[in-house]
Amino acid sequence: ETTFATDKDQILHDNLDHTLFSWSKQTGLNPINAERAEGVYVYDRDGKRYIDFSAQLMNVNIGHGDQRVTEAVAAQMRELSYVYPGMITKARGDLGRRLAEITAPNLTKAFFTLGGAEAIENAIKLARVYTGRHKIVSLYQSFHGASYGAMSVGGDPRKFAVDSQAMPSTIHVENPFFYRCPWHSETPEQCAQRAADAMERIIGYENPGSVAAIVLEGESGTSGCIKYPPGYWTRIREICDKHGILLIADEVMSGFGRTGKWFGSDHHNVKVDIMCMAKGITAGYLPLGAVMVDEKIAKSFDDKPLPLGLTYSAHPVSCAAAVAVLDIYETDNLLENTVEMGKYMDEQVAQLMHLHPSIGDWRNTGLFGCLELVKNRETKEPMAPWNATPAQMDIMNQVAAKIRELGMYTFVRWNYIFICPPLSINKEEIDEGLAIISEAISIADKYVY
Ligand code: PLP
Repeated sequence: ETTFATDKDQILHDNLDHTLFSWSKQTGLNPINAERAEGVYVYDRDGKRYIDFSAQLMNVNIGHGDQRVTEAVAAQMRELSYVYPGMITKARGDLGRRLAEITAPNLTKAFFTLGGAEAIENAIKLARVYTGRHKIVSLYQSFHGASYGAMSVGGDPRKFAVDSQAMPSTIHVENPFFYRCPWHSETPEQCAQRAADAMERIIGYENPGSVAAIVLEGESGTSGCIKYPPGYWTRIREICDKHGILLIADEVMSGFGRTGKWFGSDHHNVKVDIMCMAKGITAGYLPLGAVMVDEKIAKSFDDKPLPLGLTYSAHPVSCAAAVAVLDIYETDNLLENTVEMGKYMDEQVAQLMHLHPSIGDWRNTGLFGCLELVKNRETKEPMAPWNATPAQMDIMNQVAAKIRELGMYTFVRWNYIFICPPLSINKEEIDEGLAIISEAISIADKYVY
């Protein structure tokens, strides 16, 4: 006889006793016991409401609980839940065409995966097969997923635990991070120039003829919203063209309206050869990723087998969810709303910066923003350093606990507070969220010297 978990404690125990939690020590966890969600709010089993200021993992771009997606998914399941990827479906074709329409004209065909890391894995494989080269160049302050290849290409310290087994042939270089530029730079443009020059020098030392691809997040996410200064992408494209290297944009987090344009790299007027997508493609309603490839790469497999395959590639139900979500971005004018609400957010955060000396920097494009907290605006000493130890996280943990107590869920990492709400947010909801953040970072202000 099965007894179903009906009360919140049973649910909590089942989760803690029988499931593992990402990136965490498994003891001492105090997860939100989520029951339902709607719009920008998630509710726990005590009825407490949390405003979702990071759209969960920067993916629930259309907001929670949109029944238009539910209907599209149910309709697809009633008709056809699954066929193997050698068969075709309407949802798959619709989605391929729609992605080709919203990306640059050179990107013509999509290979579908189940999420972001898999999109990166398949992009790396394609780049290597296409170029016949093996090295992949990427940035230290970046994250591209948790599978071996994606993690090795990323520079995030979460990979330290498995460093000894990393994928070989990955080369990392420093970010063009103007607030903390590793080269003396008076302007963002200078920082961009010096970072790109350094990358080209390193590619020279590494043998340009061995480099298959440069991988960049379309716009930096979990490393702290490190914006690309003007000119950076243009120089990187030049380096690629000069040395026959492919340019891969990882738009997993920065895509689908997050920055106010379809893709983060759209802000830089640059042609990329491969684009990886996930997250916002279905706004988290179902798992899906995609690798969009340049026509010349797609054509190179006209007469030889494509060396990629997944049982759930182009899953019809995920594709149907994605088509419904793409419709919602358009019918609800979510890109326009992101631009408008992003400006409002910038104005309101500028006010907060007057009130809170702990805010060192605010970096935002559309609704892809991070507050960077510091102990001193002159020295820029971070409230918690990159790869902070638990002890070094003490102040930020207090801030995060306050945020939660006051009824907000958002992503807090090192000295960064992410402000990346659903793109459907309105001004009243922004005010509500920023009031919570303002109260919480008063804790950090006390540590400013
Ligand atoms: N690429 C970027 C830029 C990401 O931010 C992430 C996840 O946060 C990934 C890839 C990995 O995506 P997934 O978790 O769906 O594998």
